[in-house]
Amino acid sequence: MKKIKMTTPLVEMDGDEMTRILWQMIKDELLCPFVDLKTEYYDLGLPEREKTRDQVTVDSANAAKKYGVAVKCATITPNKQRVEEYGLTEMWKSPNGTIRAMLDGTVFRAPILIDSIRPAVRNWKAPITIARHAYGDIYKATEYRVPTEGKAELIFTDSEGNETFRETVYDFECKGVLQGSYNKDSSIRSFAHSCFNYALSTKQDLWFSTKDTISKQYDQTFKLIFEEIYEKDYKAKFEEAGITYFYTLIDDAVARVIRSEGGFIWACKNYDGDVMSDMVSTAFGSLAMMTSVLVSPDGKFEYEAAHGTVTRHYYRYLKGEETSTNPIATIYAWSGALRKRGELDGLADLVTFADKLEAACIKTLDDGIMTKDLVGLVTPGTPVTAVTSKAFIAAIHERLEKALA
Ligand code: NAP
Ligand code: MG
Repeated sequence: MKKIKMTTPLVEMDGDEMTRILWQMIKDELLCPFVDLKTEYYDLGLPEREKTRDQVTVDSANAAKKYGVAVKCATITPNKQRVEEYGLTEMWKSPNGTIRAMLDGTVFRAPILIDSIRPAVRNWKAPITIARHAYGDIYKATEYRVPTEGKAELIFTDSEGNETFRETVYDFECKGVLQGSYNKDSSIRSFAHSCFNYALSTKQDLWFSTKDTISKQYDQTFKLIFEEIYEKDYKAKFEEAGITYFYTLIDDAVARVIRSEGGFIWACKNYDGDVMSDMVSTAFGSLAMMTSVLVSPDGKFEYEAAHGTVTRHYYRYLKGEETSTNPIATIYAWSGALRKRGELDGLADLVTFADKLEAACIKTLDDGIMTKDLVGLVTPGTPVTAVTSKAFIAAIHERLEKALA
């Protein structure tokens, strides 16, 4: 078989633990036999981050900016225990955080659906993609536990030192709590551009929701910025693509999402996205079937699985056990990145390969061959066989080879 050619390199960000093992298996079994894989490789595994004092993370993000498409393996975000385990000289920051900040990107999470695992919400037929604005709000708020009676005020002083705003928040007659949160127009704008771009890129409707009726400055600003950018830069493109932009209040959105059939992108403010993404992913099935893509406002893409490095399985693997870790979300990170690369470079073969790779995954699952994590989720009565990661990937390989022949 002639291998499929690539022109521009894909930025490859390797990672840690069990997902690093799966990464190599996926390349060996599902990619390299069929594609003349062209990547610029960055090792974001914790030992290499320690060795380079995390420079490798910064370099990989710069490469993603340069080439426009990256694929990332799950990585350890060090905590105190990891500092000891890996003998780190510093508690390096989350690579995902660093990359997201450098690309100024928004994360889109979407589940992979199969027939034998029914979503908890019966009428959901297509994936619901959640876009979370991962900046500001309560995550960067200043808080105070009010210990006694007294007055809380909101004050703004401009850069010239003029106090331009002062308003009483509350006149406390007893103990209480106080919180000051903020956001920035620039960040909201980037969020909006990422959302509109991703909707166009995936040809899905975009929903956005806030509580602007109650929050007449804060949430209203989000609503107005989205509206302005849509009218100016995206309305015509959306009409041409046959998709719509829809704004509604967050509580109305929740009701509509539950009644819907799915198949759209739901953009959420930081806290709503945090909460709703866990609800939506659980209702669809499993974290191991959740994909994730970081999209920058200027249309750079970084694909990954939503789950972590699956540490508990890795420790078993190190003891010589064969594990049944689900590689689907990581395979989809590769297929997503290869498809995007193919689209950007006009390589129809590469796009078709990505489609066939995903189809081979679904066919394997539909044939009842799956990893252990999925077995408990299938509709009772479905005949299934739980296999190891190795056997599962081999079964996908077999189906992919047939589809490509
Ligand atoms: P995790 O790696 O997602 O795993 C949590 C549990 O979920 C696993 O123990 C496993 O359950 C199940 N699971 C997750 N993915 C699975 C898969 N593909 N196949 C089968 N089961 C799967 O989360 P964690 O244990 O909290 O975090 C481990 C490390 O990952 C941490 O160091 C964290 O910093 C890192 N992390 C990285 C990212 C990222 O790079 N994007 C995201 C999250 C966490 P059972 O053990 O019950 O089988
Ligand atoms: Mg959450």
